Amino acid sequence: MANLTQMEIERQITDGMAAGGKSYQFDEAHDPTKPVNYWFQDSFEGETLFVIFYSQACRWSRCVGCNLPSVSSKHRVSFKSIMAQVDHLFNQPEILQRLRTIKKVIISNNGSILDEATFSTTALIYLIAKLNIHLPNMALLSVETRPEYVDMTELVILSRAIAEGETATELEIAIGFESFDSRIRNGVFKKGLELSRFEDLCGMLATYKFRLTCYFMQKPVPMSDEDAVADIRAAIDYLSAAASRFGIKITMYLNPTYVARGTTLERLLQLGQFSPPFLKDVARAALHAEGKNVRVFIGLSDEGLAAPQGSFIRPGDEEKVRCLESFNRSQDFQHLHAAIALA
Ligand code: SF4
Repeated sequence: MANLTQMEIERQITDGMAAGGKSYQFDEAHDPTKPVNYWFQDSFEGETLFVIFYSQACRWSRCVGCNLPSVSSKHRVSFKSIMAQVDHLFNQPEILQRLRTIKKVIISNNGSILDEATFSTTALIYLIAKLNIHLPNMALLSVETRPEYVDMTELVILSRAIAEGETATELEIAIGFESFDSRIRNGVFKKGLELSRFEDLCGMLATYKFRLTCYFMQKPVPMSDEDAVADIRAAIDYLSAAASRFGIKITMYLNPTYVARGTTLERLLQLGQFSPPFLKDVARAALHAEGKNVRVFIGLSDEGLAAPQGSFIRPGDEEKVRCLESFNRSQDFQHLHAAIALA
């Protein structure tokens, strides 16, 4: 990274917001010694702690429909504050109760953990040390980032460090892919991710057998529900082929799109020009992974960022949600069939 001034970093953030048509504000009132949020989820990889750290916002900030940076700061958050966030986590009773059962940790700052301009390297090293000390059974650490910030030297050091805990922990990089159709991904959604960059990343991860998770959104922009299912099915085929070609483990983290406050999608929802996908169609899309070389986890949280009537969980969906949660835990496709049959 060239040595950017704070003014330049903040200008990148506001330019990105403008390019993405965003109208949200940042959360400058947040206590910088506390993370934005954390929660637990049950996955086929075991009990998972998902943490969103409070930091300076995503420098890309362009992706249409994303308001994740609205819970960040426009300004630098110091390494001391982020270290205090780590300490805060390990003072929480619900985390202390689970120290021996947590198998996976996902770390995010709603941007890029590996972008040292917005997330302190000192704090990241401190976090790894605390994870090693407190979580003796952590087998997988997942780090969310845009691919352009993946620096192999840094990853090798991180992977060596997490391997020093009581359980040898694997490293996973988690990137946002969002849509397989490149016209939608880059042209409409403004993701700025070319397949060539993705495949370069796969090649880098293969060298060290690091894992990869790709976040996808079902129906990220206005499109028919059938086209949205077809896009996820095409993505499953592509990821499965990439996993075989590069010899790496790939997981698709499939998020049904919710309408995020302060984005273009909110305006389109109000105009009746967009509605979130149906859970039945999410199950139909995920079913395509049966027998493929890719695993699917279905994200069922909107992190409290959805606009009114903007959630993909509708009244009466409770049983379908239970089926999808059972699938997440077991990877048993019968649960997807059950969700589809409920419609
Ligand atoms: S989706 Fe990720 S990269 Fe895109 S604006 Fe949101 S936080 Fe930034």
